[in-house]
Amino acid sequence: MGKPTGFIDYERQDSIAVKPKDRIKNFGEFHIQLSMEERKKQGARCMECGVPFCQSGMMIGGMTSGCPLRNLIPEWNDALYHGNMELALGRLLKTNNFPEFTARVCPAPCESACTCNINTKPVAIKENEYGIIEYGYEHGLMKAKPPKVRTGKKIAVIGSGPSGLAAADQLNHRGHQVTVFERNDRVGGLLMYGIPNMKLEKEIILRRINRMEEEGVSFVTGTDIGKGEKAQTLYKDFDAIVLACGASNPRDIKVPGRDAEGIYFAVDYLRTVTKALLDGTLTDEKVMMAKGKKVVVIGGGDTGNDCVGTAIRQGAKSVLQLEMMPKPPVTRSENNPWPEWPKVLKTDYGQEEAIEVFGNDPRVYQTTVKEFLKNKEGKLSKLKLVKLESKKEEKTGRFLMEEVDGSEYEVEADLVFIAAGFLGTEKYVTDAFGVEQNERMNVKTEMDSYATNVKNIFVAGDMHRGQSLVVWAIWEGREAARAVDSYLMGYTNL
Ligand SMILES: Cc1cc2nc3c(=O)[nH]c(=O)nc-3n(C[C@H](O)[C@H](O)[C@H](O)COP(=O)(O)OP(=O)(O)OC[C@H]3O[C@@H](n4cnc5c(N)ncnc54)[C@H](O)[C@@H]3O)c2cc1C
Ligand code: SF4
Repeated sequence: MGKPTGFIDYERQDSIAVKPKDRIKNFGEFHIQLSMEERKKQGARCMECGVPFCQSGMMIGGMTSGCPLRNLIPEWNDALYHGNMELALGRLLKTNNFPEFTARVCPAPCESACTCNINTKPVAIKENEYGIIEYGYEHGLMKAKPPKVRTGKKIAVIGSGPSGLAAADQLNHRGHQVTVFERNDRVGGLLMYGIPNMKLEKEIILRRINRMEEEGVSFVTGTDIGKGEKAQTLYKDFDAIVLACGASNPRDIKVPGRDAEGIYFAVDYLRTVTKALLDGTLTDEKVMMAKGKKVVVIGGGDTGNDCVGTAIRQGAKSVLQLEMMPKPPVTRSENNPWPEWPKVLKTDYGQEEAIEVFGNDPRVYQTTVKEFLKNKEGKLSKLKLVKLESKKEEKTGRFLMEEVDGSEYEVEADLVFIAAGFLGTEKYVTDAFGVEQNERMNVKTEMDSYATNVKNIFVAGDMHRGQSLVVWAIWEGREAARAVDSYLMGYTNL
């Protein structure tokens, strides 16, 4: 530990967010980073606890507590405090292939599990992670390091999201020849075409892909494996296959009027906007679909928030966000103690922006859609909403959300984005490879295993564990790579 009294001497300091009214003028990242002097102080707040819960990566009550990658947080905080940035970078990269992604988009379960979080503010772990990796890039420490020896084994990775990229990176460094196949026109999965540019600028992904290419990984885009004969050809041509296709089947809202014009899935909207931003067609009328419109986002989670932020940047007239569940408490409730993930009210960037622009929080709780109403031309005009209340089911003792009689009301809407979660992986891919799915429509494996029922075929990421987080996807990619390496070589040193 660098400074025994660090957490007493220094307050937590986050990077400074540009004011909502200014940042909504563009789609750029909007945090002004701390100086190196300030970063060292933030590193000094870490006490190198005997039991560092921050790096535990446990599941408690179905929620993540601590870093799923088991990042060596106290070690790199200490190195950062002492200004030994090369050491800090080395320790960070030992467990995390892509800190530049997690340092931007991770919800930081490490921080909620930090011991300081019991009665004061946690160490700014995610900010420190950002400082270390960006120092590495700025100071030429992130040069390509191709493997010195090649094994002669060929591996196909299907899907270029964080799990596919992590698996490819690990297997390539081990000396295997890796080709990543991606159906989209750009590499990155949901990092590229899900998470908006203001959270993760797409140059950051390209910077990493360029390095991976220099190190010997091949990328083939615009190839949808599973359509046509491609799956069987790959099976013959490669020694092993890693499926990392995500869990992109969106949950629909199946109520009357669903066929009205103006209703889209959230990820389709976010993909359209990011693609246009990168293609230079952002101002096209079709892309600027929220401009001057009354927008309703169905789903109160992070994807819904991304739609709120994106619609505001496009100049929406109003934005309403519907959430079925009750409003969470502002502070932890008694049955949700540290180091559990805190189930508390979080006002994210999009909601902050809506409060600033429209003067009120866009979220409406315990509410769902009963019907989409359309005009004579078939265009969406209104939503019929209904209030919900939590009721205990006699038989199971579970709490369910039920409609409140007579609570229906209507709101005007031109545009709806459905952000109601995902229902597992797409079946055509699993069918093409003959791999089994489980009841949640993810790919079936034994517990803690990454091998599917088909010899040579492995699975990683959301396709394996269901829609999750980037940090879990990286972990899954690393673990799947270990499984593939053991299978091909008889042992693994990954
Ligand atoms: C809108 C949105 C915002 C999110 N924001 C965050 C966030 O801020 N922080 C966070 O931690 N997590 C976030 N997540 C979750 C996170 O993005 C995912 O958990 C993570 O990307 C999963 O990684 P993956 O590699 O398993 O799959 P994905 O990222 O989904 O990548 C799968 C890739 O496989 C490709 N593919 C699929 N089928 C085929 C095929 N047949 N042939 C070729 N290619 C194929 C797809 O095109 C895609 O590129 C968000 C998710 C969404 C939807
Ligand atoms: S990857 Fe996420 S959980 Fe792990 S140290 Fe970084 S911010 Fe924390």
